[in-house]
Parts: sequence; C-alpha cells; structure tokens
Amino acid sequence: MKRALITGVTGQDGAYLSQLLLGKGYKVYGLLRRSASADVVGERLRWLGILDQVELVDGNLTDISSLIRVLQDTAPDEVYNLGAQSFVKASWNQPLLTGNVTAMGAGNMLEAVRLVRPQARFYQASSSEMYGLIQEASQSEKTPFYPRSPYAVAKLYAHWLTVNYRESFGLHASSGILFNHESPLRGIEFVTRKVTDGVARIKLGLAKELPMGNLDATRDWGHARDYVRGMWLMLQQDTPDDYVLATGRTVSVREFCRLAFAHVGLNYEDHVRVDEAFMRPAEVDVLLGDPAKAKRVLGWQPDVQLEQLVAEMVEADLKRHSARG
Ligand code: GDP
Repeated sequence: MKRALITGVTGQDGAYLSQLLLGKGYKVYGLLRRSASADVVGERLRWLGILDQVELVDGNLTDISSLIRVLQDTAPDEVYNLGAQSFVKASWNQPLLTGNVTAMGAGNMLEAVRLVRPQARFYQASSSEMYGLIQEASQSEKTPFYPRSPYAVAKLYAHWLTVNYRESFGLHASSGILFNHESPLRGIEFVTRKVTDGVARIKLGLAKELPMGNLDATRDWGHARDYVRGMWLMLQQDTPDDYVLATGRTVSVREFCRLAFAHVGLNYEDHVRVDEAFMRPAEVDVLLGDPAKAKRVLGWQPDVQLEQLVAEMVEADLKRHSARG
C-alpha cells in the first residue's frame, strides 16, 4: 500500500486529492495545524464522506521539527505540499505571515524531505498567480513570471526552491503551476464561490444584492477534481518536472456572474453592485494557461467545462442554503 502525506488537507484540493488517492488504495495522512476552529476542519473531507479514512497528524508547515517527526512517523512515498495562506487579497494584510507559511513552509517541507525521506516524491502546489502581469498572451512553463501580490511572491520562492532541490539534490520534486480551479468546496472568499453562494442566497430570498470587486479581470477556471488528477500524474512520471494545468479558455468575472445568475433565471445586472472594498492594490488582469505539455507528457486534460462547473457550484449552494433554512 502506497502512503501519501498531504499538507493543506482540509482545503479544497486536499479533500479532492485525498478522495482520489483513497480510491487508488493509498494510505492517506493529512497534516493538521492546531487552530481555534477545530470543529470545522473536517468540513470538506466530511462533505466527500472520507473524513474517517484520512489519518490526520499534528504538525505545522512553519515548524520544521514537526515536519521531520511526521515524515519519520508516516514514511510517505509521496508528499503533496498544498498548504498555504492562499487568499491573494489577504496577503496584502498579512504579507509576512503569507511568506512564512507559503514560502518558508515549502522550504521547511523540502528540507525535511531531503533530510528524512529523500526517496519520497514531492509535489509543490505552484500557482498561475506567479505570472501576474503577464509576459505572454498564453502562459506556459516557459513564460517569465511577474508576481503581483505578496502571495504570488511567496509562491514564486516555493516554486524555484522546488526546482532547485530537484537540480541540487536529485529529489523527485515537481511543481504544478495550476490555473484557478474551483468546485463546491472552494473557500467562500474566492470569487467563484462568493458568486455562486450569492446567487443561491438571492434566489432563495435571503439577500438582494452582491457587492463585488473588479468584474473585468479574466481567469482560466477549471474544476478542482480534474486538477488533483494532474498532481498525481506528475508524481507517477519517472522524471520530475514542472507542468501547467489549465483549460486554455479565459472568461471574465462579469461573464462568470452572468452564467451563475442565468442558471437560476436571474439577470446579474439586477443584483451585482461594484464595491471598492473588494478591489486590490495591484490586480492580475488576465490569466490564460497553455496546458499543451501536460497533455503531451501526462496525457492530462480537463473533463469539466466552465458551464458545468458553474451549474454544479450553484446547485450545491442552493442545497446548502435550503438545508439551513
Ligand atoms: P485569485 O486569482 O487567486 O486572486 O482568485 P480570486 O477568486 O480571489 O479572484 C479572481 C479575480 O476575481 C481577481 O482578479 C479579483 O480581483 C476578482 N474579483 C472581483 N470581485 C471579487 C470579489 O468580490 N472577491 C474576490 N475574491 N475576487 C474578486
């Protein structure tokens, strides 16, 4: 039985990746950071019905001693580093905490793997946010980076350190540069979930309007379930490498709103209100990924189209709010 250790196991991708690996017969360990809100940590794993199948182990990305102990205890074949302070806007309010967790946390894990478990295969969750102020119309593994937030700067450090540990120490370390990927398990602070949750509340008469930030930004949005499959595929290759996972289609926040409201027969223009509070000090205007390498080498491509994703998310939020009411 293969063993996997996942950081960020309580997040969207951690939950879907756990589900995928359990389905393949893995023993799955999830690193769990002590926090005050311990009662909600298992929410996503519970939603997928797998909370009791993932073994949660105590540790923290900012404490290398805990990572060393966990690697010794769990002896994983594969380590997926998904843990991060991952909300871009919050990274301006807590830039150094974001650096500690998102950048140094990855460094701690790489160093712990090198010292304790160098035979393990390592996956780093890199981000399309690293492209920021885009240098090419369509972004591939070869496109230069230009980060536009403390979050993206931190992710860039983790990305290059992963590459460097591969080249310096021969670790089987791969970096997945994932474009935005969403699902009903997406955190409510991200724009897609904020919109589908808002649509559900408005449809059910629980709210009238939805305050939003920049509607003109465009993103390449896929489904998280497709993207965790890509992570796993990267670690099944003989040679570690870096891969872009994306759909190759970019759509504006405005269009996402239109689709989500239209799904329940509403016009977004009647409900969406632009509010300066949701604008960012520096914006990433456009992201569009080129997933050709992942398709060629990994045989990966996304199954879920944006319209299906929107429908699934709106339906899930309608269900959640109906159940509460
Ligand atoms: P990101 O690409 O990791 O920053 O993912 P987000 O889902 O947080 O944001 C995607 C885009 O939506 C960014 O360009 C935001 O500026 C834009 N956006 C517009 N309104 C909102 C909003 O109310 N909340 C969030 N999170 N993003 C918004």
